[in-house]
Amino acid sequence: MRPPWQEGHFVGGHLVLDLTNTVFSRAQPVDEGELLKTSSDVLTWCVSSGLFDEIPVVPTNGLVQDVQTVREQAWAVLDAVACGAAPPPEPLGALLERAGAGVRTGHVHVDGTADWALPGAIPSALALMAVQALFTLPRDRLRACGRCGWLFLDSSRGGRRRWCSMSTCGNREKASRHRVAG
Ligand SMILES: [Zn+2]
Repeated sequence: MRPPWQEGHFVGGHLVLDLTNTVFSRAQPVDEGELLKTSSDVLTWCVSSGLFDEIPVVPTNGLVQDVQTVREQAWAVLDAVACGAAPPPEPLGALLERAGAGVRTGHVHVDGTADWALPGAIPSALALMAVQALFTLPRDRLRACGRCGWLFLDSSRGGRRRWCSMSTCGNREKASRHRVAG
């Protein structure tokens, strides 16, 4: 983990789900709870998520905006799936186009690697991974946290996980129930 990132930011069970969770809460406007504010935030996130090991020297103009755009498109697509709906065509089409552009130039590879130092490689690779996630993640196990809206893969045996994390949202839910009961 590279600061400011902590284990609690990576509870989605998949890199793309963790990317969609780089806002404080889906229950509040994204700009107020933005966790990817600077290019350093983006690059340290990429290392912490395991996208690459060493931070490459990349052109940072547009990087934050492009990664935020991919994140919001991935969230729109995967949140719809988590809710049992069809993926909305506009953000899905945009992800396919960005992924396709990276693949066509040869800068982004289907094994999840890319020539990271090239402009646009990081957002294109993330877009490709989002498309892969849509087609490969088990849809019946994709969930949105009942409190904060973060997306996660429910790998529990019974398949009844409701919270992104018991130590944050799960406990708050218990606490609020307790208050109501008391
Ligand atoms: Zn939550």
